[in-house]
Amino acid sequence: MNHFEFRHGRLFAEDVDLVALADKIGTPFYCYSTATLERHYRVFASAFPPDTLIAYSVKANGNLAVLNTLARLGCGADVVSGGELKKALAAGIPAGKIVFSGVGKTGAELELGIRAGIHQFNVESEPELEALSKAARAAGATAPVAIRVNPDVDARTHAKISTGMAETKFGIPWKRAREAYARAAALPRLKVVGVDVHIGSQITELEPFEEAFARAAELIAQLRADGHDIARADLGGGLGVPYRAQDPEPPDPKAYGEMIARLTRGLNVSLILEPGRLIAANAGILVSRVIYVKQGDEKRFAVIDAGMNDLLRPALYGAHHAIVCVAPRPQDDTETYDVVGPVCETSDIFGTYDLPQLRSGDLVAVLTVGAYGAAMASAYNARTPAAEVLVNGDRWSVVRPKMSDDEFLGLDRLPPWLE
Ligand SMILES: *Cc1c(COP(=O)(O)O)cnc(C)c1O
Repeated sequence: MNHFEFRHGRLFAEDVDLVALADKIGTPFYCYSTATLERHYRVFASAFPPDTLIAYSVKANGNLAVLNTLARLGCGADVVSGGELKKALAAGIPAGKIVFSGVGKTGAELELGIRAGIHQFNVESEPELEALSKAARAAGATAPVAIRVNPDVDARTHAKISTGMAETKFGIPWKRAREAYARAAALPRLKVVGVDVHIGSQITELEPFEEAFARAAELIAQLRADGHDIARADLGGGLGVPYRAQDPEPPDPKAYGEMIARLTRGLNVSLILEPGRLIAANAGILVSRVIYVKQGDEKRFAVIDAGMNDLLRPALYGAHHAIVCVAPRPQDDTETYDVVGPVCETSDIFGTYDLPQLRSGDLVAVLTVGAYGAAMASAYNARTPAAEVLVNGDRWSVVRPKMSDDEFLGLDRLPPWLE
C-alpha cells in the first residue's frame, strides 16, 4: 500500500504532480511519500505489544527527513556505524531508542554509543565484547549488551542478503553463545540485557523467522538458567516486500506479529524489532527521464538518466523493480524495452519491460526503491547521486540536493608534487 497513484492519467506522489515536479527540479530524483512512511510504521508497530521498541534500520534509508518523519511517530533506530548513530540522533531519535548493530564497530564508534547513552549494543564477536568493555571503562559508563547469535538457519532469500547461516560473517555461532555470554558477564562495565538475531533481508516466508526465533527462545531459557538477566529479545528485521505484481504476497506485519507473539509467549521479554525495507521500500520511487530510445540489433533500449550509480540493486542482486510511465499517452501502443542507465557497465540495466511507447524526454518511475536505493548510491562515472524529495500532501521539499559537478570535482585534492 502506498500513496503513488495515477490521477487524470499521470502519476502523483500524494497530491504532487510528478510531471510538474520533474519540470521544476530536473531528473533523476528519488521521491518519498510521508503518508506511506507513516502508514507503514503504524501498521508495523500496531502488530506488536506497546512496550516493543521499533528500531528502524537506518541503513535502508538514512535521509534525515525520513528519519525525522519516523522519529515523530515514536520510532527508534538500528544503526550500523558511527555515522548512522549521529544521523539518528540529529534526526531527533532519542539515544534510549537506538540499538547499535554491525560486525566491525571500532573502539571510537563504541565509545560514541556509550557516551550517547544508547539503548543496546548488539555485539557480534568475542573481541568486540572486549573492545566494548574497554570503551565503557574509558567512558566511565556501563554498556547494555545483547549478543547477536547466528542461529544457522536458511532465510531462503538472495544469498547476498542472507545473514543467519553458519558461513556468513554475522553474529556468534549459537552453539558458542553460552560461552560468549559468560565472557560478557565476566567483563567489567558490561551489562547483559538481551539476545539478538537477524537472519537476513527480503524474507518472504515466516518459516525461517520461526526457526530462528525458536532457537533464540530456547537460548534465552538456557541463559537464564545460567544466571543471566535476559529482559529483551531483539528479533532483527528482514520482512520482505512485494517487488513484482505476480509474486506471492509476503506475510503481512500482523501475521509476523502473531507468529512472534506465539513464539515468545511466557518468555517475559520486551521485544525489539529492526524493520528497514518494510517501512521504506514502498514509500519511494525514482523518477527519471528517457534520454534516448535506441534500436539495437536484437533489442530496443530506453536509455534513462538514472543508472546503477543511483540504484544499485539490479546490478548487485539481480533485483527487479517495476517501471511505469509517469504520463503515458493513451493512444500509444505497448513496446518492449530494455531499460538501461547511462553508466558504462553492461550491468547498468533495470530489466526488460513492456511499456507504452517511449520517446526522448518522457518520464518513467522506478517503483519500490525507498529502501536500499539512495542509501547505496555512488558517484560512479562522476555521476552524482540523484536528488531526494519528500512529499507531504500537496507539499514537497528537496531533502537532499543532487551535488553539482563542480562540488563533486572540488572534493578531490592534488598532492603538493602535482600542484
Ligand atoms: C539490514 C539490517 C536490518 C534491516 O533489514 P530489512 O530487511 O531492511 O528489514 C535489521 N537489522 C540488521 C542488523 C541489519 O543489518
